[in-house]
Amino acid sequence: MPFEKPPYFDPARIALFLDVDGTLLDIALRPDAVHVPDGLIDTLLRIQALASGALALVSGRSVAQLDQIFGASHFAAAGCHGAETRFLPDGKITRGESVSTACKARFAALAENFPGVLLEDKGCSLALHYRAVRELAPKVLAAAADCIRHFPHMELLPGKDVIELKPAGIDKGSACVEFLRRPPFAGRTPVYVGDDVTDERALVRVHALGGIGISVGGLRRGARYNLKTPAEVRGWLLMLCKEAVGGI
Ligand SMILES: [Mg+2]
Repeated sequence: MPFEKPPYFDPARIALFLDVDGTLLDIALRPDAVHVPDGLIDTLLRIQALASGALALVSGRSVAQLDQIFGASHFAAAGCHGAETRFLPDGKITRGESVSTACKARFAALAENFPGVLLEDKGCSLALHYRAVRELAPKVLAAAADCIRHFPHMELLPGKDVIELKPAGIDKGSACVEFLRRPPFAGRTPVYVGDDVTDERALVRVHALGGIGISVGGLRRGARYNLKTPAEVRGWLLMLCKEAVGGI
């Protein structure tokens, strides 16, 4: 049943991949205005310990932005939809190529044409946020699709009130596969939790690998379970800690 809540999974046996915005954190009007609820970092660190480190944040944000949001507590992470990876909590960040100057210039010009649209430069990827002017969405998407034709090695990834521009062929799903090739993730059952259409490739990939997908909010392709809100996700994570054998 696709809308069932996920049960308890033993953190000692899973590799847990967590999207951030709209999954762990409630979405804010501006990406820099998100709030980390009390106790969340502590819960994540507890699961990280119970899972022997097999917990990774998987986000459209850059890894540097994730570190800023989660403070001094660094987590293994895939940023910019997989264009950046850090396989161990305090390890080196591996980055793909930066978005070219020509590409940035085109998308900056596009954003200027649509007041209220915010261009975010994340290094390896760009994002056009239109949450403040949702009525412009079809026009912004059409203009972005027109721009991207000039950059065949890049692709558009529409999300919730955002259009991401990232290297073609790299996504949250391919990032999960890379993590699962390495310890401490290798050999565990992957569990992916995500809310957006941008998470579907990871949910489908993880399902194909014998893992478990959990969507947040609406049902997503590849998901087997569902949690309704980020607050429910946080509650479920807390339950994993509490139920864990030898829980800490
Ligand atoms: Mg999300």
